[in-house]
Amino acid sequence: MTKILVVEDELPILTGIRDNLEMEGYEVATAIDGEKALEMVSKFKPDLIVLDIMLPKVDGFEICRRLREGKSNAAVVIVSAKKEETDKVYGLDVGADDYITKPFSVMEFLARVKAVLRRRGHAPPLLKYAFGDIALDFENFEATKKGKKLPLTPREFKIMRLFVENRGRVITRNEVLNKVWGYEVFPTTRTVDNHIVKLRKHIEDDPAKPCWITSVRSVGYKFNG
Ligand code: CA
Repeated sequence: MTKILVVEDELPILTGIRDNLEMEGYEVATAIDGEKALEMVSKFKPDLIVLDIMLPKVDGFEICRRLREGKSNAAVVIVSAKKEETDKVYGLDVGADDYITKPFSVMEFLARVKAVLRRRGHAPPLLKYAFGDIALDFENFEATKKGKKLPLTPREFKIMRLFVENRGRVITRNEVLNKVWGYEVFPTTRTVDNHIVKLRKHIEDDPAKPCWITSVRSVGYKFNG
């Protein structure tokens, strides 16, 4: 899954960008100041960083410079209220891949992010997937079994997407927690098990003898679609 770190100190903008990116299928983490951003770069290892310029503690230009001096090869899309051409030139000069000025349309923003990722060789997020008699549409949050609608919650879609993108590989409960619940909140691994029980009721012919989502003893789960 492509990972994006959003760095922005204005909360409404931060949550707006995060929600839209998550809906597109990216794994998203956030930071509200420059120090936290640099910390998240090493912790979360994003593929792309959406970066505001005017930030508390360490500004966006400085973050960009430090990234390029350090080991991070993450793509950077600067999102800034600074409209002057010199700022744009400077931003690209310190290593940003693209520069968008506020206010911007969500459509344009997503298109620019996608274009930068494509240039960096990242495959676009998976939008549809079918296995057995199940069809999943991650874009429109629609799931069917034998053509009948399955009432999956957004969280269950996220879990399914994680499984599908890692099909055939064992996924630990902690990995599910990190990628579906996020890095800030940590419910218990028991929560993951409860969600898997519910998912199996929807997708398995016999939830007691699952064939799509199998348990791997004391480790986690594996999706066999
Ligand atoms: Ca700001």
